[in-house]
Amino acid sequence: MAHGRSPHHVTSCEKCGVPRPDRAHHCKVCNACVMRMDHHCPWINNCVGIHNHKFFVQLVLYGAAAAAVGVLTSAPWLLFCFSAIRRDDGYAVEPGFSLGEGFSSNLVPFDLSVREAWAMVLDCALGLLVAVLLGLLAFGVVPNLFSNITTIEQNYPRNMNPFDQEGVMANMAQVFGSPGPDWLLPVSPWQPVCDGLVFPARGAPPLHGQAQGEALWHLWYTGGYKGRSPLSLSRPASLGSPPQMAGLSARASPWG
Ligand SMILES: [Zn+2]
Ligand SMILES: [Zn+2]
Repeated sequence: MAHGRSPHHVTSCEKCGVPRPDRAHHCKVCNACVMRMDHHCPWINNCVGIHNHKFFVQLVLYGAAAAAVGVLTSAPWLLFCFSAIRRDDGYAVEPGFSLGEGFSSNLVPFDLSVREAWAMVLDCALGLLVAVLLGLLAFGVVPNLFSNITTIEQNYPRNMNPFDQEGVMANMAQVFGSPGPDWLLPVSPWQPVCDGLVFPARGAPPLHGQAQGEALWHLWYTGGYKGRSPLSLSRPASLGSPPQMAGLSARASPWG
């Protein structure tokens, strides 16, 4: 039983005192272990893990898109807003103002008050701020999704991503499920390929002994195994820490 980080191995949590599956981490804010933990998000005041990672990605992308659409579609009206603020007489434009031939005069907000104009400007500024912040966040979220690595695992030594399925679609499927229309919908994956307990190794199926051990943990966590905790059983030899991972558990970590 390994403590700390150890990809492809079951570890135990020193704070909760329970065994935890691969890629699970203890969150100090939530005071709980979270399966396939990505990070604790202060904006949603919750952890992002296996069961809400898809919704988190959608929140970032759809939120950024909605804010961008809001800003772009209201930007032309800012011209009238600035005009109303400059005139300061309760009218956005001179009476009789025309956008030109072919444009309906209904498009011109003649009686735009200064207060309304400022509200519109503020609204656009907030929309722009949200679009920029979520857009920047998307630049961190999407590449991780495409390579099947979590924010926590980015602290692993460089170039080490044992969970990379070597394909954007296969990596996305680990979070979004098998490709389908549900990828676009805010619903749980219709055909999940990852249960948050067992993770396929890169390229080849897991070793026989390791697969056996992980299958036992899977049954134990899902209630299918009614016997004693797998902790009390002899551990398959392949569950020991591989030498190249030895330095990982000693690294300081904010996630425990
Ligand atoms: Zn824990
Ligand atoms: Zn948390």
